[in-house]
Parts: sequence; C-alpha cells; structure tokens
Amino acid sequence: MSRRTIVVVEDEATIVGAVASRLRSEGFAVETAATGPDGVALCARVAPDLVVLDWMLPGFDGIEACRRIQAERPVPVLFLTARDAEADVLVGLGIGADDYVTKPFSPRELVARIHAVLRRTARAAEEPAPSRIALGRDVLDLDGRRLLRDGVEVPLTPTELDLLATLAGRPGRAFSRDELLAEVWEWRTGGSTRTVDSHVAALRRKLGADVVRTVPGHGYALGDRA
Ligand code: CA
Repeated sequence: MSRRTIVVVEDEATIVGAVASRLRSEGFAVETAATGPDGVALCARVAPDLVVLDWMLPGFDGIEACRRIQAERPVPVLFLTARDAEADVLVGLGIGADDYVTKPFSPRELVARIHAVLRRTARAAEEPAPSRIALGRDVLDLDGRRLLRDGVEVPLTPTELDLLATLAGRPGRAFSRDELLAEVWEWRTGGSTRTVDSHVAALRRKLGADVVRTVPGHGYALGDRA
C-alpha cells in the first residue's frame, strides 16, 4: 500500500512544524499550506487521504476551504478549533468535517484522532451502499429501480431515475450540469446542459419543487447544503 498523504492547512508555523514532524514519524507523507486558498490548491494537486484544517486562516477561513476542498473531491477533514463551542457550529454546518481537535492539543492526540478517522472512513467505504434512500415522503429503491410514495410506485422514466439516484447517492453534494451529463447520460462532450434542466424540471413536477435544489452558478443538489 502506498504511503498515505496528509495535508495540513494552518498558518501558525509552530503548530505546523510539530504536527508535520509527528505525522512523518508515523509514516505519513505530509504537505502543508498556510492560507485557505493555498490549502485548497494543494489538496487539488496532491489528492490527500486526509486534511487537517485550521478554522482561522488567512485568505478565507477553514469553513470555506473545507467547502471548496469537498466540492473538488470528498476527503476526510479533521478541524483544528480554538474553542469547544466551535465544534457545534461545524457539525451544524454539515460541511463534512469528520472530527475536530480543540487547541491546545498534543501532536500525539491529533495523530490518534487521525488514525481513528482513517479507520472509520475505510470501514465506511467497505460497507455496501444502501439500496433504499429516504427522500422526504418518498423512498428511492435502487435495487428495484423505482420510487415509492406510501408504498405506491411513482412513475419515473429511466433517465429521471438515474438522475435522481445520482443526486441522492451523494446528498448535499452540488453537481454541475456537465458532471450530470457525464454521469447520467454518459456524454463526455457535446451534451446540452438544457437536457439536465428539463429532466430536473420533470423530477420537480413529480416529486415536489423542493426535492432537487438549484445551486446558483453551478448546477443541482439533493438534500441540505453540504
Ligand atoms: Ca490559524
């Protein structure tokens, strides 16, 4: 197995130094960045296995960095926070923070938490994807390829079903129209994004206007903002 890479985004040099040397001694490859924008760019470049992200960063803060990193590619994130109370905010935001450590912390404690997050995410990846997904009052039955409302099938076209399954498979994740064209229609090039819009409109007519959310300037998502 190749060495796992951890990105540490933190502007306090002493913390970065202590955390990085501890992680390297544990056998991780470590890359560091000191601002929000640099952290996002670094994650896009090295595709880390986990990100340690400070809340307070120059450029933009850890929350915004986390959103951008997760939009690019989902990755476990462990937040560094200044106060315990911030953890509640993190959870409430639903931005995909997997754990947090409150400053001051020992590098040993942080490393233990990193191992725990990596174990948890490895386990989650092994679990089979659920075959039934609850969507408000409806249930999407992926194995049976049908949508049920109070046990009665809601008629959907195969494409509508594929579109819904793609969005529902990653709740809160914003998909661009081009991504959806590639995933659902398997059009790598040349597809019209208007196709996506009209199928979303059809889903809204059948499921209710608020099931699929428009993400302005980007595309569509299902479920709460990630
Ligand atoms: Ca900081």
